[in-house]
Amino acid sequence: MFRCIAIVNGIVYTASSNNIAEAVVIDKGKIVYIGSSSNAICRAKNCKIIDAEGHLITPGFIDSHCHLAQAGFLEKYGINLLHIRSINQIIDIISEKARKTKPGNWIYGYGLDENLLKEGRPPLRYDLDEATSKHPVFLEHISGHMAVVNSYALKIAGITKDTPNPPGGIIERDERGEPIGILKDSAMSLVTRFMPEPSIDMWMKCIEVAQYMWISKGITAIEDVGLLGQGSNILAAYRRLAHSNRLIIRTRFSYPISSSKELNKDLIKKLKSINSRFLRVLALKIFYDGSGLARTALMHDNWCREYKVDKDSRGLRLIPQDDLINIIRLANKEDLRVSIHAIGDKAIDEVVEAISIAKMSYKAQHSIIHCIVPTKKSIEIMAKLGIGVKTQTSFIYSYGHVYAANLCLERAKKAFPIKTFLRKGIIVGNGSDAPFLNPPDPGYGLYGAIIRKPKIKTPYDDPFGSEERISFIDAVKTYTYLASMAIGWNDEIGSIKIGNKADLVIWNIKTLNPSSQDLLHLKPLATFIEGDIVYVDRDWEDKLSYKPISKTSKIHK
Ligand SMILES: [Zn+2]
Repeated sequence: MFRCIAIVNGIVYTASSNNIAEAVVIDKGKIVYIGSSSNAICRAKNCKIIDAEGHLITPGFIDSHCHLAQAGFLEKYGINLLHIRSINQIIDIISEKARKTKPGNWIYGYGLDENLLKEGRPPLRYDLDEATSKHPVFLEHISGHMAVVNSYALKIAGITKDTPNPPGGIIERDERGEPIGILKDSAMSLVTRFMPEPSIDMWMKCIEVAQYMWISKGITAIEDVGLLGQGSNILAAYRRLAHSNRLIIRTRFSYPISSSKELNKDLIKKLKSINSRFLRVLALKIFYDGSGLARTALMHDNWCREYKVDKDSRGLRLIPQDDLINIIRLANKEDLRVSIHAIGDKAIDEVVEAISIAKMSYKAQHSIIHCIVPTKKSIEIMAKLGIGVKTQTSFIYSYGHVYAANLCLERAKKAFPIKTFLRKGIIVGNGSDAPFLNPPDPGYGLYGAIIRKPKIKTPYDDPFGSEERISFIDAVKTYTYLASMAIGWNDEIGSIKIGNKADLVIWNIKTLNPSSQDLLHLKPLATFIEGDIVYVDRDWEDKLSYKPISKTSKIHK
């Protein structure tokens, strides 16, 4: 690795201001010069010089909300259902897995999306029973808020006709009251509690695999919110990796809890004891409502279904508002940041009210994850109090057709009001929520923010309208400068500024006005973290004399 690198002949977008330069010089992992190529070359006598050939250079992108460890788990241990197009195919793929799996062991699939299936419905327990009666099967929906299980899994969990719906969850049933295998929100945990817990070692392997997935997309920092019930093991895995210099991507870990009772002294002590170069914690994650795809997010008015109002469907509140207030009060006392999942207008109103009652100490200390259909009133209060937003505009592109069908036109047009957030001065960090709904690629999120059109057509011409479209430069800001504030790392990253850490990306475009096709094919040519080259596109390997690093090597000195 080089101590000093000068990247010249590029379009350097600094993100903190709207300044554009040609060159940037990195020394000992920090940015020491931004300006013209000729000055950079003069200054960088003993440096490696990289000719950017006119390509765009930005701060490393920041994924302000994702599930990196879980993505690694799915990649290593799960069955990917994202490319499946029929229930028969699901049965085949599970039968195949069952043949190779010891009877009694769990079979786990993810990325289930009935909208992509020929039948237009999710499989039911009876479909999965055709694949195996000797293994419990758990297929997680693409939204992460629903699962389908087979009869074996229902039996292990003791779920029968007589099992009541748990608070914040739904066991779907047929007309005789028999469970059909579909579990929504907290009802999923009736089954997941019987699944074996991955060990810390397994989580370490998952994170190591997944961090390369993110880095290869130009992402240099993330906020991982873990997985309910697995916070302790995932955090321990991150900690060990950071300790042995194997954590390459900057990580804010938000510890997932579901009630204030879990926030005991031991946990607080643990969260406060970790604060290293690549790993920061001091943060909590809470689910307040359900999902916009499964129509379980909490709304003032009924959800739509297939573009028609769905009677008696206003979603779920997953924890009482009083308990959220308790959590925020405790968090304030201990200087913890709280990220709260809220999608529906009613959920957002209640979360905003909870934060106003409990208060907060500094800007973006607490933020709302997703915040898809906020009311005008809530937006005003968020701006006043400094509540942050962690949005995923990639949802508009990847699943806009489902949101449009579930929200209907009037609400869809007002959904993801990114321009309004920015105009009001709200700190908006963009991100992927990967592996749910999207891969980590920022190009889809930029497309969603700038173009605001779903990839699959809907009966509405322009379901998300043009009023909330933003410019490329503003969209990049939501992934860099603003995202660094949203995850609380604003002192060192997120902008190309003298003295900042040299987390940078050279992209495969040569413009600040990319076309929609440019956005959908956006990829990094090289990713730098603290001046170390951590990823190089194949086309540039020779140019940078780069050899792909082994997936476990320690690259940061
Ligand atoms: Zn999420």
